[in-house]
Amino acid sequence: QTANAQWQRPGPRSAELFERAARVTPGGVNSPVRAFSGVGGTPAFIDHASGAYIYDVDGNEYVDYVGSFGPMILGHAHPAVVEAVQQQASKGLSFGAPTGLETELAELVCSMVDSIESVRMVNSGTEAAMTALRLARGHTGRKKVIKFAGNYHGHVDALLVNAGSGALTLGIPGSPGVPEAVVQDTLVATYNDLDSVAEAFKAHGDDVACVMVEPVAGNMNCVPPEDGFLQGLRDLCDEYGALLVFDEVMTGFRVHPGCAQAHFGVTPDVTALGKIVGGGMPVGAVGGPSKVMETLAPTGPVYQAGTLSGHPLGMAAGIATLSRLKDGSVHEAIAPKLDSLLQGLQQCADKHGVPFLTQRVGAMFGMFFTDASRVSRFDDVAACDTDKFAVFFHTMLDHGVYLAPSAFEAGFISQAHDDTAIQRTLEAADAAFAAVA
Ligand code: PLP
Repeated sequence: QTANAQWQRPGPRSAELFERAARVTPGGVNSPVRAFSGVGGTPAFIDHASGAYIYDVDGNEYVDYVGSFGPMILGHAHPAVVEAVQQQASKGLSFGAPTGLETELAELVCSMVDSIESVRMVNSGTEAAMTALRLARGHTGRKKVIKFAGNYHGHVDALLVNAGSGALTLGIPGSPGVPEAVVQDTLVATYNDLDSVAEAFKAHGDDVACVMVEPVAGNMNCVPPEDGFLQGLRDLCDEYGALLVFDEVMTGFRVHPGCAQAHFGVTPDVTALGKIVGGGMPVGAVGGPSKVMETLAPTGPVYQAGTLSGHPLGMAAGIATLSRLKDGSVHEAIAPKLDSLLQGLQQCADKHGVPFLTQRVGAMFGMFFTDASRVSRFDDVAACDTDKFAVFFHTMLDHGVYLAPSAFEAGFISQAHDDTAIQRTLEAADAAFAAVA
């Protein structure tokens, strides 16, 4: 199913660019999941994007459900975001000195996320998770971290253990190059299984600095927390004096304007942010109560720094984006669109007799080729049919719908996805489910 000849798209110009790229870049891409390794074929090279649509260099138009893997909740090239970046660019790109923009974005984050009183800006989700871990260790004076199989926190050495996302797609649970010594304090528990966390605490409770969790697991497709799971983590952390770290790089401002913690009503100590906080620019952030955040340099002893951190263009895009999400109207507008998309997909799958399930939280969703009526554990996700997904993916692409090229990635919708875009998606899905059946 991987031979390109079988599929019409993307097309010869993408193929040519991919070949050129592969000569000068490992695998032709700058992030593994972009290489179509999980579905076969040649990646589409993108020329431009607008609203709900993305356009490749062969001139193909696609309804886009990747949204740059999450940030583009307002739609591509939103005029206000683009204008904010352009205006800021004309004033200079980077200064290595503070700007008011950093404070403005920090104030927005603090006003939207209840658990956050103070924020440190960084340049990516990976940096945010890495800083959150160091902060938790520095603040508690403890070493161990409990994470979950199938959760992904970027390519941080100590957290690249049984990771999901690209690492799962490639079938690499850890990675060569990560010394054993670096992961010896990383305990891996099972997502949605509180007993596994309680066991880890029982064995190592005095030395657990934090539990780090994706509050909705978005790197093993889209798996919501079961009732009581997040609260159970909160209770265990309180019992053992550990910090609860929510990695909201993906869920932050996507599942709710106040992030997943507002959606589920569970308060973490530390939050890692990325993606939407930078409105499509490379921005990450770590936030929490001032008394915890002040453990970071220069107020505290835990070192963290960045030449380009708080980058003016990223701050401008972040401010333009978050200020539009704050009142909740974007999320309210997206909800019924995602309803009709997911209902339509399910009806289509049923019509063609394809075992299929969708899950969603806020403006992120998952599609599973499975007989199961619910997917809540990593093993359930791993049991889904990736061959069917690959055929579905390529047929959708041929019919003008761009999905993440992996059965383990969540789907992202934006406010720009109107009825026409959704109708086009469902027409493509009719062909795609027929191809899978
Ligand atoms: N944490 C989560 C939950 C993510 O989904 C990701 C990326 O997908 C990261 C961290 C890493 O972010 P970045 O790719 O910006 O380094």
